[in-house]
Amino acid sequence: MANDNSVKGNVIRDAGIICVGTELLLGEIVNTDAAFISRRLAALGIGVFRQYVVGDNPGRLKEMIGAAYSRTDTLIFSGGLGPTADDLTKETVAEWFGKKLVRDERTAARIGDYFCRSHRRAPHSNEKQAYVPEGSVVLDNDYGTAPGIIIEEEIDGRKKTAVLLPGPPSELEPLFLEKVEPYLMERSGGTIVSRNICLIGIGESEVGDIIAGMMESDNPTVAPYCGDGEVRVRVAAKAADAEKAAAAADAAVGRILGTGIREYVYGIDARSPEAELIARLREKGMTLATAESCTGGMLSERITSLAGCSDVFLGGCVTYANGAKTDLLGVPSETIEKFGAVSAETAAAMAIGARERLGASVGLSATGIAGPGGGTPEKPVGTVWIGVSTPDGTAVRKLSLSPTRTRDQIRKISCTALFGFAIFRISSDGRPKTEGIIEV
Ligand code: ATP
Ligand code: MG
Repeated sequence: MANDNSVKGNVIRDAGIICVGTELLLGEIVNTDAAFISRRLAALGIGVFRQYVVGDNPGRLKEMIGAAYSRTDTLIFSGGLGPTADDLTKETVAEWFGKKLVRDERTAARIGDYFCRSHRRAPHSNEKQAYVPEGSVVLDNDYGTAPGIIIEEEIDGRKKTAVLLPGPPSELEPLFLEKVEPYLMERSGGTIVSRNICLIGIGESEVGDIIAGMMESDNPTVAPYCGDGEVRVRVAAKAADAEKAAAAADAAVGRILGTGIREYVYGIDARSPEAELIARLREKGMTLATAESCTGGMLSERITSLAGCSDVFLGGCVTYANGAKTDLLGVPSETIEKFGAVSAETAAAMAIGARERLGASVGLSATGIAGPGGGTPEKPVGTVWIGVSTPDGTAVRKLSLSPTRTRDQIRKISCTALFGFAIFRISSDGRPKTEGIIEV
């Protein structure tokens, strides 16, 4: 990421975070951007000693920039890069650095393309987003219109760096991972090699408790972070060269795998649980079919978003009504009457039905109560039964997810848990954890 204006030298050891948005101060949105950025910086070995939040007010923002730069040389900003008049982060930071805004033709063309792809005309206000501080590095945003921006400038003999990112997490997070991390790694001294240990079936705080001792280390850094239904432990080792860094990272991974979290590991550096499952089934020459109730097609949607999965995935049935479960999957109507649609027995019969009716090696099933209505004292919202049927037998598990979760989260977590369950069922390395699993 060369930049003619870049000032060489100055390794980045610590950084501050400034989140801009009146909504944050009013408590209307939770500052997940700051949490995300802090976690990632920690994993890179870059210390964060201060996080700041300021409203959409240029005067107060400017004052904050000055105060923050008196304590660190690197600031990461989130928010206020949008097209509207109250989005003023870029203008204010440029002013602080004494830089003019200039039109970036590549960004202008990219924004035009972005609207063209969605068959919309670019609103005039988006023109504003094509302007960047002169001499800055532009990070193309593939997930929205506002680009990320890096400004580097020597001020009073010290190199000051500003990284500006759009506020929406769906844009900030991938932009940070794909474009900002490589930049920071280059500047954080030495080479960093990272590994992600991917876990399903255990919570972030439980993981944190088990590896608490290792999380105190500065190098390698060890940090858990969670997604919907999975936890990843990111290990990042820094060393003079890649070989030494890789050896240190792998040694740390080995130590972590020596703890109780081993039985929850579904992969190392896995793209996603569905990608891991499909890859493992492919290796074994096995095929897959799904039977979905509460996930309503999300399972097959996630599988088919993987290009080239057609050699493994044969198809699936979305069977929402009891009659559909019976007609399409052959679930006996007595089973549903006796045990209910959300039960171990129905989940097992659905998984078996998917496997047999579609002629697949493995059948997956999910049936549950995604809410917000429909819960009962015996089967509250968040009760989901998942099933896996393989040539070796059928097993089901009950998930009791918190009813405070949204319908969408319950569905997503159910899918992730089911992919993990399936990976554990088809692997032969001594897992899965058997607790809570009912063999049918
Ligand atoms: P936009 O182009 O959407 O206006 P922006 O870069 O100007 O993006 P903001 O206007 O500050 O960003 O925020 C847009 C939305 O992004 C907010 O409504 C909120 O949903 C989300 N968002 C902003 N800042 C944060 C934050 N710190 N943490 C989590 N979400 C945030
Ligand atoms: Mg905005």
